[in-house]
Amino acid sequence: MSTRPAAKRSSAKTPAISLESKFARLGLISAEDFVLHLPLRYEDETAIMEIESIRPGMTAQVEGEVVRSEIILKPRRQLTAVLRDESGEINLRWLTFYPSQQSQMQPGKRWRVRGEVRGVRHGFEMVHPRLSVAGAPLSTALTPVYPTTDGLSQASLRKAIAAALATVDLRDTLSPSVRSQLGLMELREALQTIHTPRADLDPTGLLEHTHPAWTRIKFDELLAQQLSLAAARDQRQVKRARPLGPVVSTAHQPSLSERLRQSLPFALTAAQARVLHEIETDLSRSFPMYRLLQGDVGSGKTIVAALAALRAISHGVQVALMAPTELLAEQHFVKIQSWFEPLGVKVCWLAGSMPLKAKRESLEAIRSGQAQLVVGTQALIQEGVDFNLLGLVIVDEQHRFGVGQRLSLSRKGEDGASGSSMVPEPDMIPHQLTMSATPIPRTLAMTFYADLEVSSIDELPPGRTPIVTKLFASDRRMDIIAHVAQACDEGQQTYWVCPLIEESEALDLQNAVDTYAELAQALSPRRIGLVHGRLTPSEKTAVMQSFRDGLLDVLVATTVIEVGVDVPNASLMIIEHAERFGLAQLHQLRGRVGRGAKRSVCVLLYQTPLSMLARQRLRAMYETQDGFEIAQRDLDLRGPGELLGARQSGLSLLKFADLAQDGGLVAVAREQAVALRESDPQTVRKHLDRWMRGKEDYLRS
Ligand code: ADP
Ligand code: MG
Repeated sequence: MSTRPAAKRSSAKTPAISLESKFARLGLISAEDFVLHLPLRYEDETAIMEIESIRPGMTAQVEGEVVRSEIILKPRRQLTAVLRDESGEINLRWLTFYPSQQSQMQPGKRWRVRGEVRGVRHGFEMVHPRLSVAGAPLSTALTPVYPTTDGLSQASLRKAIAAALATVDLRDTLSPSVRSQLGLMELREALQTIHTPRADLDPTGLLEHTHPAWTRIKFDELLAQQLSLAAARDQRQVKRARPLGPVVSTAHQPSLSERLRQSLPFALTAAQARVLHEIETDLSRSFPMYRLLQGDVGSGKTIVAALAALRAISHGVQVALMAPTELLAEQHFVKIQSWFEPLGVKVCWLAGSMPLKAKRESLEAIRSGQAQLVVGTQALIQEGVDFNLLGLVIVDEQHRFGVGQRLSLSRKGEDGASGSSMVPEPDMIPHQLTMSATPIPRTLAMTFYADLEVSSIDELPPGRTPIVTKLFASDRRMDIIAHVAQACDEGQQTYWVCPLIEESEALDLQNAVDTYAELAQALSPRRIGLVHGRLTPSEKTAVMQSFRDGLLDVLVATTVIEVGVDVPNASLMIIEHAERFGLAQLHQLRGRVGRGAKRSVCVLLYQTPLSMLARQRLRAMYETQDGFEIAQRDLDLRGPGELLGARQSGLSLLKFADLAQDGGLVAVAREQAVALRESDPQTVRKHLDRWMRGKEDYLRS
């Protein structure tokens, strides 16, 4: 063939990339990898269409005779031909071509051609159609089109996959009785159906992944995920941690936690008491706790964390509390110190921005063990921070941290404990409590967090009045400012939130500064403050403190106040350009108000026209205040990857299942995982081998 020399030349220039390495680029190494490489779509080569019946946009296969062909030179050299069947004619066109193709297109020759149909001035055409011998037997199955990579042809993929399908061990890891009970197709049949669907099958269900064959595949994938997460949990349970059991508390000599509880102006809600009990039960065990405490904004997670910390401190170990921003960390520090100091518990502060001398003192207190609770930012996990005896790590707003950072903190404990001079107990790792105000929908909690225990605070402290949410187009801004003025005069405090301008931090800042200047003038003589990300931590704290002390009526803020900030007297929030915020973020922001007994209002100002997505987000904000409901809607709107940050989630391991759509399967897979682990460890291994090869490392984090 005349194409040969050309191919040879090009392969001489660039070193040939072997077929194997191209497959490897797609993650296709073992035969099972190939079998699980599933088609994106199908081509229908099972029938010949009449030329008359084809339409632009469709991929069609027709057969006919070349009636003329010519090389035209303008606008550029190209080969054109006309193919005719009994019903009509279609143009064929090649923008580059070999002499062999020219001779193939000689009038009188018959071809089967296949390609995408385009409408042109006089009729239809196919550009670079695929040719095959006219009259050859038709395919009896739809032809799969696989995800591929540069330089790897569908033909090579199809061949390799078909070979794998014929040889690989497809023993079903679900017994017939389980399959029929769950209504699942047999694995082999499912794979055959997906790779080579019979010609009479309507491919819609296959394309939309709703066909029972796909359900089976998704189920298997979710089952593999559940099995491997359970294995990860087992691994954790063979590690050891210092048991921090109940502490004797009598009326005469109350424990530290008892004393704190007595000093509080409120009693714990039932939900707080329940989750505290769950945490304390974990802490008494001799393997590390790994628990997520989730509770909506304002549900009172801080006090629960503080009480858990006191349990640990009573046992003579240190506790680290890490928060994602300095503002939040400092707020925790101030609050917890005010709780702990009267109890004689030493709380210590550590942040990157500290003056060197203060930092050195903190580090020394941490090393000596004098610091019983250390509150700080990421600085806590940096080099040079040596704990004397770290027993419990608490991470607030954990979704703000990457997996790596969280891991690094728990490793800190491993190092610290083994290097400890007090109690030389190697291999001990600290208990870990993470907290999040972004509630995770149940289906996600069961997958992403399946190897965590989850505690949920599902009730708000009493006396809170629901927040009234109002939506206004931004042309009502002046009215809103007038309303804020009135609110100030009634003794209310207001947050005025400026949106993040993604493209430019400088613009973002400018916008906040301008808004501040504008409001200061419009609301004069009322007292206005400004807080944004560029202030130094101590400046931020100073502003927050004046706002908390009631010295400011209005606080203009960027999203730095998004997480955790707690000023109960603030009861009005204005969010400008609410359409630019994500749903979870809006919910977090709104959670800054409604923390006191006063009726709170959150005004969302938006710029028209609204995109569909923005409209749905704002409607969700208007319709509900339930964090779980919001999270579910966020999941529906955005998909799970974005919700959790795909990289830090085990979700990126899910190729086929879609948690937003297949939530129902997750629960079934979870149950099946438990049953299978009990009854048939060998099959568990087989299933994990099939699905998780080479991915174990990923899962371990
Ligand atoms: P979050 O869960 O968002 O971190 P916080 O811990 O900041 O919430 O608590 C929100 C506010 O509720 C704080 O002012 C806190 O003191 C208060 N609070 C916490 N628990 C209770 C309770 N049981 N009764 C009344 N107020 C409470
Ligand atoms: Mg909080």
